Amino acid sequence: MRNYSLSDAPGQEWYRISVKREEGISAETPKGYVSNLLHNSIEVGAEIDIAPPCGEFFFDSIEHDSSKPLVLLAGGVGITPIMSILKCALDKQPERRIVFVHACLNEDVQPFRSTLDALAETHQNLTVLYRYSESEAGTQRTGNASSGFVDAAFLDTHLPDQEARSYFCGPQPFMVNIYSLLKKRGIPEEHLKFEFFGPREALETA
Ligand SMILES: Cc1cc2nc3c(=O)[nH]c(=O)nc-3n(C[C@H](O)[C@H](O)[C@H](O)COP(=O)(O)OP(=O)(O)OC[C@H]3O[C@@H](n4cnc5c(N)ncnc54)[C@H](O)[C@@H]3O)c2cc1C
Repeated sequence: MRNYSLSDAPGQEWYRISVKREEGISAETPKGYVSNLLHNSIEVGAEIDIAPPCGEFFFDSIEHDSSKPLVLLAGGVGITPIMSILKCALDKQPERRIVFVHACLNEDVQPFRSTLDALAETHQNLTVLYRYSESEAGTQRTGNASSGFVDAAFLDTHLPDQEARSYFCGPQPFMVNIYSLLKKRGIPEEHLKFEFFGPREALETA
């Protein structure tokens, strides 16, 4: 059994998951079992057994004062629950200032970019930023796209005031980094919401 986050807005007539194909880190490493099964063998229309949806990482508009900005930080495929949270926040609190950051390796492995670009076009209250840890191959990164890690300088430049409420999800090193950066900025624990994510061995190694 594996966990997959619901990646679309709640309240639809469907549940959507979005699955990254886990290749092994080298040619000798076995590929991820379930992610490759879903990509390679499970056809549209197939019926599979699933457990009921569960978890506590979702946008709760009742808990939130919409006058405070919302910061959404996603690392790699950790973007899946953050996409759901973003869509829900845009729907429930359409005036709220939102800063969305997606950190990933490069443009070639980035999911949801066209969706995010379209949402940023149609929602003046939403700022979308892309941060790529691999230096650019060919195309120059300009505008809302830049190279490097999400570090203190990046957060100082782009994040709104201390009152912002932050959600974050991604691989374990991303989580450790973001948590520590936000704490250093003086953000109180109760303004942070996060979920550990990714292959289990990443957590175990840490
Ligand atoms: C709360 C939560 C939500 C999640 N949401 C999502 C989501 O929305 N989308 C998503 O894509 N993922 C999500 N995940 C991750 C997901 O649950 C799986 O961990 C992921 O798909 C990998 O599963 P797998 O069966 O393909 O890989 P596994 O078979 O479990 O292997 C995991 C990794 O280990 C490597 N590996 C396997 N065998 C060996 C070996 N012998 N030696 C060395 N390395 C090996 C594989 O190459 C792979 O990279 C989530 C995880 C959690 C905890």
